[in-house]
Amino acid sequence: MEQVPLALQVGNRRQQAQSRVPLSFISQRARWTGHDLGRLDIRCTGCNALHWTVEASASRKPRGREASFESCCKQGKVQIELMRPLPEPLNALMRGGDTQARAFWERLRRWNSIFAFTSIKFNMDNRMSELGGIFQLFQIHGALYHRQGPLVPAVGMGDALYSQVYLYDPADAARAPAARAPELDANLIRSLTLMLQESNPLIQLYLTAQERFAEIRAAEDNCRMILNPQLRLVVERGADLRRENLPTADEGSMILPEEYGSGGFRDIVLARRVDGEDLGRDLTLINPNHALYLPLHYVLLFPCGEHGWHWGRTLQDPQNKKLAQRAFYRFRLHARVDEPTTVFHAQKLFHQFVVDAWAVCDQNKLSWIRTHQANIRAELYNGLADVLGAGDADPEQVGKRVVLPSGYVGGDRFMQKVYQDSIAIVRYYGKPALFITFTANPKWDEIVRELLPYQTAAHRPDLVARVFNLKVPDLLDQIRHKEVFGPWLGWVWTIEYQKRGLPHLRSLPSWGRKYTLTVTLGTPRSNCQLINGIYYI
Ligand SMILES: [Zn+2]
Repeated sequence: MEQVPLALQVGNRRQQAQSRVPLSFISQRARWTGHDLGRLDIRCTGCNALHWTVEASASRKPRGREASFESCCKQGKVQIELMRPLPEPLNALMRGGDTQARAFWERLRRWNSIFAFTSIKFNMDNRMSELGGIFQLFQIHGALYHRQGPLVPAVGMGDALYSQVYLYDPADAARAPAARAPELDANLIRSLTLMLQESNPLIQLYLTAQERFAEIRAAEDNCRMILNPQLRLVVERGADLRRENLPTADEGSMILPEEYGSGGFRDIVLARRVDGEDLGRDLTLINPNHALYLPLHYVLLFPCGEHGWHWGRTLQDPQNKKLAQRAFYRFRLHARVDEPTTVFHAQKLFHQFVVDAWAVCDQNKLSWIRTHQANIRAELYNGLADVLGAGDADPEQVGKRVVLPSGYVGGDRFMQKVYQDSIAIVRYYGKPALFITFTANPKWDEIVRELLPYQTAAHRPDLVARVFNLKVPDLLDQIRHKEVFGPWLGWVWTIEYQKRGLPHLRSLPSWGRKYTLTVTLGTPRSNCQLINGIYYI
């Protein structure tokens, strides 16, 4: 079996050998330079988001410090109202670096929970955090919900929770949160409550709802008040649930365009009364497609009530296509030169926000799959067609199993597909020659340079993921096109998050029989040379 020489010879023979061997076998130490993406200072012409140069597509290279980008705004097609400047004293707390501000950041999830209109329900997954690591991961498993209770507290003001606290006099509204969270600064709770009373339009909306419901609840049975997807307060009364629109306090700025079809399942139920019974502490779910899904819970990130994603949003293009939920959240997760960087200051609350965004997008995708089983011809997979074809089964006895298509990342069929593809690649090209692990480094210059004041990489999973995602193609380019390990044949790789909270790429490249035998890390010298090819990244 021919082998590529590991030890290079002298004179002409050495030069000849060098011309034949892969770059990884030639010492490149003298030419080592650190891989650097540059600064995050290229402005998107469509939305003013900041990017690295390499994020521009090949056909739209930056001119000067500007370019058009796809990831933030689909080259200008996604136009969403920008975040308004933070009111004081929240702005000073978010941007300050004093002891009070740092203590505020540390417990920002707790602070947000005492001001939120809605509660959040999820199952925390602590398996990774228990293993230790520099990152405090925010992991969940299962579904994530936002929930809301009735407008009227069960007993008295002392038991007021979430949206109920805003229905009292502004001077008294801070008492209930302060009683619920004695570990937090009561003066600061009072200041932030007064700030929200002035800046958050949702509080006035709830006050209007409370007043109108109090007027009708004594006279009507079987009625409830909802906030529909068009952000109109509606009273549904009587057995036929006829609808009666109510004016909102700030109707002109709150009304959203009509959506297609009925939006009943997306309504937010504010209060209800059936047959004289007050339904007490019954909780209702907030539909993630409602425009107020985000501002009702993330009150400290959206103190001015900026709307979230809803079905009425469209792209700015001639076809007026619907704006996808993922595109909306991608827009929100880019820092801009003309927009406050509120969400990026939020540390653990930012982690929760990112997980929430991913969860609602995934839940929406699963919901679509569940209601479009015919489109993916699921009956062919769950045996339904076979059972009915046999003619000896009662169709009503056949269960409704939901089949995930192979395109759903993480599903059983997806995992089966990539496994079979991987085995096929290995069978065709031969056994992998190397096992390469490529790890994100929280000390990378691109990350450290772009952190906000007083932040570490653990506070900005968005930056870590973006930088990692930009460096991986360069590693692949070294191996596939620059052939640092020699002619390349096949490639199997996966990216996963390890216990330290950092993304890892694990790859198994194949170079065919010739290099499979020579790339054997038997001596310190060959090991060192192999590292040369990887260390460049
Ligand atoms: Zn953009």
